[in-house]
Amino acid sequence: MIITKPKDIKGILEALKGKERVYLFGCGSCAEQCQTGGDKELKAMEKALRENGVEVAGGSIVEETCYRQLVLKEYRNVEGFRDADAVLVLACGAGVRTVADVVEEDRPVIPALDSIFLATVERYGRFFEGCALCGECVLTETAAICPHTECPKGLLNGPCGGVADGMCEVDTENECAWVRIYRRLKEQGRLHLMKKVSEPKDHSVGLRPRKTLLRNPARQADRKTKK
Ligand code: SF4
Ligand code: SF4
Repeated sequence: MIITKPKDIKGILEALKGKERVYLFGCGSCAEQCQTGGDKELKAMEKALRENGVEVAGGSIVEETCYRQLVLKEYRNVEGFRDADAVLVLACGAGVRTVADVVEEDRPVIPALDSIFLATVERYGRFFEGCALCGECVLTETAAICPHTECPKGLLNGPCGGVADGMCEVDTENECAWVRIYRRLKEQGRLHLMKKVSEPKDHSVGLRPRKTLLRNPARQADRKTKK
């Protein structure tokens, strides 16, 4: 899940300066769960904008705002959305970009949130960074504890010299990621993996913008039948 936090309203008002009709767009997935882009947050944003003299033309929440087809459908079907002269998006950066790809280029699409990390969800409202999307997963060798995300220094070959009583020197409330890796590998009888020296990361696998172009299996099957 993508974790987001609200931007300061002052900056949002500044970005909307001179715009007469603003449409609000939330997200029924991650942002709703983060309590940053669901129905309640859209209503609160509408109130804040109106109190500051900004007219709100309406608001929408689709299941996933990063999904272009869903946003496009909403755009075609909802008049207020098409008529607004700016759109304020309460979703992650991917959601903002998806909305911006759908509306006409002459209308600004403004983010109302900051996207901060990809999380594992312990339970509702308790989110922890789960993966830094490095593009070269090492969890097989590290007993599924990620040294990129759980060690603040991102060390790949064991702990630094700052471990104190098993705790991390950077954040003393956290146990050192490598202490946890050692303990779990030992439990699994796989301690030999600690002897393996990891090569420096191949950063070329993380070159941006990243993309994956999957073939549509239904279309592929259809083409084969037609041949
Ligand atoms: S090593 Fe860590 S950051 Fe890289 S893909 Fe695996 S979980 Fe994500
Ligand atoms: S103490 Fe452990 S988790 Fe903290 S920075 Fe050093 S190796 Fe990483």
